[in-house]
Amino acid sequence: MSRVSAVRFSHFLPSLLLLLAGLSAAYVKDLNVFFTSLFNVLPTLVLLLGGSYCAVYRRQRELFLMITVYIAYFLLDTQTDFYRDNGRVREDAAVVFHLCCLLLPLLFSIYALWQEKTHLFRDFVARGAVLLAVGSVALALEQSYPQAVLNWLAEIRWPALHGTWMSLIQLSYPMFLIGFLTLAAQYWYQPRPLHAAQLVGLLGLFWMLPQTFILPFTLNIMCSQVMLMIAAGVAHEAYQMAFRDELTGLPGRRALNERMQRLGRNYVLAMSDVDHFKRFNDTHGHDVGDQVLRLVASKLSKVNGGGRAYRYGGEEFAVVFAGKTLDECMPHLEEIREIIADYDIKLRNSDRPQDDHQGRQRRAGSGASSVSVTISIGVAERQVEQRTPEEVLKTADQALYAAKGAGRNCVVAAGQTRRGAVRTESAAG
Ligand code: GH3
Ligand code: MG
Ligand code: MG
Repeated sequence: MSRVSAVRFSHFLPSLLLLLAGLSAAYVKDLNVFFTSLFNVLPTLVLLLGGSYCAVYRRQRELFLMITVYIAYFLLDTQTDFYRDNGRVREDAAVVFHLCCLLLPLLFSIYALWQEKTHLFRDFVARGAVLLAVGSVALALEQSYPQAVLNWLAEIRWPALHGTWMSLIQLSYPMFLIGFLTLAAQYWYQPRPLHAAQLVGLLGLFWMLPQTFILPFTLNIMCSQVMLMIAAGVAHEAYQMAFRDELTGLPGRRALNERMQRLGRNYVLAMSDVDHFKRFNDTHGHDVGDQVLRLVASKLSKVNGGGRAYRYGGEEFAVVFAGKTLDECMPHLEEIREIIADYDIKLRNSDRPQDDHQGRQRRAGSGASSVSVTISIGVAERQVEQRTPEEVLKTADQALYAAKGAGRNCVVAAGQTRRGAVRTESAAG
């Protein structure tokens, strides 16, 4: 599967909705008591709920992202509270604010990019140590040399690049820029809901900081939203793990079971199976086999006539046609069978044979760098006497068995003989 096809708007959708909700809420003037009280407790509530959710599922990366956002919220909230109560800023407001503008994008990006690879406890200690080290150095410097730190932070280092619109310290912008670029690259190479959430979360923080002392509750709202984005990203991935097949990207068996419970009275189920796939794997190697499964899945996912493809397991795929009759579906299944049989699969360099034996076998074949496979399909339309979709699926499976018996590379409907199939040699090198 190419990277572009793995990039999905749905990965960004929950975070973008949360961002939009946060932006709208931040601009509301004259909040009533209910919302004022809600926004006061929201960040702590989200950290407690979201943080324990991440901790229970051992998602330390996300836990530390939340903690980082919460610490920034806590430090800045102390300042905005003082400002609201006294009508003036505290004497350390500038240095605390500038430090947050510098360290928040830095730590957020570090934790976002820091993959969980080591032992859980060691990982936890390492992340905690980074937070502690950065926090204590910043605190020590701020306490010991407040003016020098402030001057260093506020210095305009690159006057030519300084715009009048810049309301944060100049150093903060390269931090955010590097954060955006690296998080975008991370999403590009690993398009996951969580990586999308981190990117949108950083955008939310970038918008939030200049508004901290201007729009009341911006800080509470946006920090809560960013933490929620992270928690929603974790939940989104858990859902994907349960319902999507990782190899092919198709919905998996669990999703099929759910769909089958909501099919109504009229529907058609098809079971398809790659022909001689074991032989194919033996000849070309498991990696090429995986590549072929992805290709078959991608072709099946484009089946016409309202069909929806699922990976049933192994090299078997189910196609569900809700509200359709057998005659309506057969041409589309024939079409997809033919498309797959006619498709020359180009082998990538990385799909080299895993050992000399496989390499010799491959070279001894046609010597070409493309292969092809065929699939057999069994189809069943729901009959009045059939009470459950599982019965219909079983009938489709029997029809698939008949298709294999009829020579493979064909579509057979339950209760019918083999239909217009052209047999081609499968697993051709
Ligand atoms: P038939 O035409 O009768 O279906 O023959 P077949 O060889 O395809 O049938 P069989 O069920 O014996 O073999 C299925 C093979 O599919 C066995 C296994 O090696 C392969 N397979 C199952 N899942 C995967 C997978 O995820 N990746 C790869 N590469 N191969 C898989
Ligand atoms: Mg099989
Ligand atoms: Mg097979």
